[in-house]
Amino acid sequence: MRNRRVETVDLREVFAKSFAEPLLTEDIGSLSTSSKCALIRRILEARRAENPYPAFDTSKMSLLSLSKAFEISTDFHEWQRKRRQIFIRELTSNENKPVLTAYRNWNKISTDAKKFALRQSVRLQRKSYVEGLSEKLPYNHDFQEGAIRSNGSVVTLVFGGFSGDLKTGRGRITQYSHHGELIHDALEAFNTAHHEGTHLIQHHLSVAFHRKQIAPSHPLYHDAEYFHSVDTHRAYIPSSLGECYKVQPNEVLADWEGNKISAAIAALAL
Ligand SMILES: [Zn+2]
Repeated sequence: MRNRRVETVDLREVFAKSFAEPLLTEDIGSLSTSSKCALIRRILEARRAENPYPAFDTSKMSLLSLSKAFEISTDFHEWQRKRRQIFIRELTSNENKPVLTAYRNWNKISTDAKKFALRQSVRLQRKSYVEGLSEKLPYNHDFQEGAIRSNGSVVTLVFGGFSGDLKTGRGRITQYSHHGELIHDALEAFNTAHHEGTHLIQHHLSVAFHRKQIAPSHPLYHDAEYFHSVDTHRAYIPSSLGECYKVQPNEVLADWEGNKISAAIAALAL
């Protein structure tokens, strides 16, 4: 049977409401992934424009409800856990042992050797996670200064970032430093590398969805659709929005992997 999901909710109405009062689950529960992402984008743009939308905190609460309203499938969680196990097993192979050796001797090796080990570890993560799922996309893994950002009186420390291009498929991981610091703490550096590495894998799913390489019957189809929808609507909530940023599924999943993988590397390097 061929069917189509019909939305009965008027997006303009929900958008107007998001500034008047915090959106509740019943306001957004029936919206498609794409509509939720479109709504996030519109709210972010309206907040940026400032006038005539004075009720900032209300729209922030609406954004929080929206970012909590996406569902990542249990299949995805299971897939991510299994791929992590493959990655960790691969780390102990002869070919990849240099990563663990570098971690063990972190304070004695050069900055270039540290960068080499971080790049190798992410390359292995990518291989372990996307093999058999999607084609391998080109990407860069760069290191640069600029970790400290100030916006008026607010100073934030940015460890890393990821950006990806849906059309070309190219991705870019950047790890930031301040006078070379950040990369010198091994656990922190690997945590950042694999947090951004996880965004790289999400990007692979997004591009595969974009190129129609993931069939609707695929167990990760709806998860890939979510990553793709965030990209196409640019519905990414910035870290300046605190809790709203933290509860976005793509960030929750990346935090989870960064923590788990870096802890596993630290334990294996003992
Ligand atoms: Zn992130």
